[in-house]
Amino acid sequence: MEILTGNRDLLIKEECPLFTENSDERWARLIHRADLINTLISQLPPESVHLNHKCERVITYNDYAEAHFTNGISVDADLVISADGIHSKARSIFCNVTPVYSGYHAYRAIINEEATFGLASDNTLRIFVDGQVQVYLLPLQYRKQISVDITVPSEDPSWRPDIEKKDILKHLRNFDPKIQQIVESIEEFNCRALYDIDPLERWSSNCIPPARRCCTCYAS
Ligand SMILES: Cc1cc2nc3c(=O)[nH]c(=O)nc-3n(C[C@H](O)[C@H](O)[C@H](O)COP(=O)(O)OP(=O)(O)OC[C@H]3O[C@@H](n4cnc5c(N)ncnc54)[C@H](O)[C@@H]3O)c2cc1C
Repeated sequence: MEILTGNRDLLIKEECPLFTENSDERWARLIHRADLINTLISQLPPESVHLNHKCERVITYNDYAEAHFTNGISVDADLVISADGIHSKARSIFCNVTPVYSGYHAYRAIINEEATFGLASDNTLRIFVDGQVQVYLLPLQYRKQISVDITVPSEDPSWRPDIEKKDILKHLRNFDPKIQQIVESIEEFNCRALYDIDPLERWSSNCIPPARRCCTCYAS
């Protein structure tokens, strides 16, 4: 991994992920989100995965819970494990948190390795930094693709801000021309405001009975 200035002067170079014998160390691994999800799904029997189910409510009783979906289906189960992200419906049962805007936008795209003008063809994660603006080139080695991630400060807290390429390029004025060229050649960016939630005091309700039904996955 390398951290460089916007002009490609090297600031830090280190091995990543750094594996040591110390089990207390927090190892970072790089995996494309779609690959992670496919890895998890491939371990489940297909009949256990139900897509196009958007949960609108979870109701807990003493020894079971009901999950209600917008398609009219409801399911009762001994245990509901919710992994529905920052807007989680289930989380509101046991805690009430409001997402906090980080003050940053992230603009992302996936491009082919050869479109990076040699800046990302050696399986090295490169982070170019100029003030509060950062450009990540994250190698997705076996796909021969690169994830381009640009993070910039912004006062616009819209979850999906409407950003044009020329706005992105303005932030990159001080960056190496090759980096600007990479961005110039990208047709479409996925633009998001970055939000966070404070650490949770609780992660579960009291409803943890003996298992009756397990390993069924509902996702929107
Ligand atoms: C632009 C951007 C870049 C990021 N980059 C990185 C990075 O490089 N590395 C990193 O570690 N983290 C990164 N993060 C953060 C990371 O994406 C999140 O921390 C992580 O995805 C949170 O995981 P999660 O399982 O809690 O929720 P999510 O990944 O948001 O998953 C929630 C899932 O639940 C589904 N869902 C939502 N509501 C319902 C519902 N009502 N019913 C059924 N299904 C529902 C959603 O469709 C989604 O599939 C990034 C985030 C953003 C926005």
